[in-house]
Amino acid sequence: MTTDLLAGRRILVTGGSRGLGLAMARAAGEAGAELVLAARSRTQLDVAVTGLAADGIAARAVATDLSDAAQVADLVASVSEGGLHGVIHAAGIQHREAAADFTDDDLRRVLDVNLESPFRLTRELVRHDACDTLRSVVLVGSLGSSIAIPRAVAYAASKAGLLGLARTLAAEWAPRGIRVNVLSPGYFHTELTADLLDDPVQHARVVGRIPMGRLGQPAELGGGAVFLLSDWASYVTGQQLIVDGGWLGA
Ligand code: NAD
Repeated sequence: MTTDLLAGRRILVTGGSRGLGLAMARAAGEAGAELVLAARSRTQLDVAVTGLAADGIAARAVATDLSDAAQVADLVASVSEGGLHGVIHAAGIQHREAAADFTDDDLRRVLDVNLESPFRLTRELVRHDACDTLRSVVLVGSLGSSIAIPRAVAYAASKAGLLGLARTLAAEWAPRGIRVNVLSPGYFHTELTADLLDDPVQHARVVGRIPMGRLGQPAELGGGAVFLLSDWASYVTGQQLIVDGGWLGA
């Protein structure tokens, strides 16, 4: 789909090196945005930037571990040069384990990357004067933002927590002209879900719950991301947009 909804906008995409983050980055780039990708692996980031460039999409990469405050400060300093208009927080991790067997370390690790790091990064961007061009923050939720995900208690808690984060930041930052929303995917095959979806029994169970009868294609998240980043969503804040093939509506 061709649009220039994000022409002239600079968009930071965390978790932009692969999977859903890269797919949303690509959609934003196709809509005219200039991209900054942040993720842990320099190698994967370089592959992503090269692939986008081959399609005429301008992107640069800043290798960042979002759990590390010093690296987040460097990222903020780097993206603030030239102004930043939007952020997609797609960085996320999963840990599957029965709740009774969860260790404190695994709980902290998942909450840190999925819930605390989007807050810390956005707060640092808002504190930075050079980022007063920031207009839209998109937090990537999940079905776990709305319903139970058995054997993923930390993940579900982190993704449900993003709704509270988005609503509160939306209310506090509306006077600054910053909108904050959650974009919640259903099931897509990526490195995050491969352990589950490569199991034929689990695959059949998941797909059997989806009214559209199939997994999502990563590119199918692009429209929602571009919409929430763009002026078409200028009066939309503190909301959740669900892209799940009908799962939660059924
Ligand atoms: P993925 O594993 O392919 O990608 C995860 C990305 O997050 C990678 O770029 C990785 O480098 C980055 N990341 C992880 N920890 C990081 C850290 N400490 N610092 C910086 N970057 C870090 O997974 P994905 O499926 O593309 O997931 C993207 C987002 O979508 C996640 O927030 C995930 O929870 C969410 N999501 C995915 C699905 C799905 O079906 N795949 C469904 C719902 C929500």
